[in-house]
Amino acid sequence: MTMRKEKLERLKTELLSRRESIAVGLRRSTEEWLDSEDLFQADSIDQAAADTDRGIAVRMRNRDRVILREVDVALRRIENGTFGDCERCGEDISEPRLKANPSTTLCINCKAELESEGQRFTGR
Ligand SMILES: [Zn+2]
Repeated sequence: MTMRKEKLERLKTELLSRRESIAVGLRRSTEEWLDSEDLFQADSIDQAAADTDRGIAVRMRNRDRVILREVDVALRRIENGTFGDCERCGEDISEPRLKANPSTTLCINCKAELESEGQRFTGR
């Protein structure tokens, strides 16, 4: 079962703009990082604070990279026509679910089933 073309196009446009804004953010934070490098070398008292800021910045960048990767996965799935299909049962994945988690390959039912199987397994 495949998604209607216009719905797919809409999601694709959304994903592309999301990717663009994340990419811009990553570029900007890299530039700020390079700027602050000079600043903090001059004043070692602020070094600890700078390290903390840097830690937060690194975590944010890592999170952005993960989102970026997920968006890329989703865009590839749109290209090869598998986007929106559940890998397990072949049913359509709901649009809100795809928007919240574009890289998902399971419908909500299969996800819930797998999770309850997982719980039984780890509960033993
Ligand atoms: Zn399914």
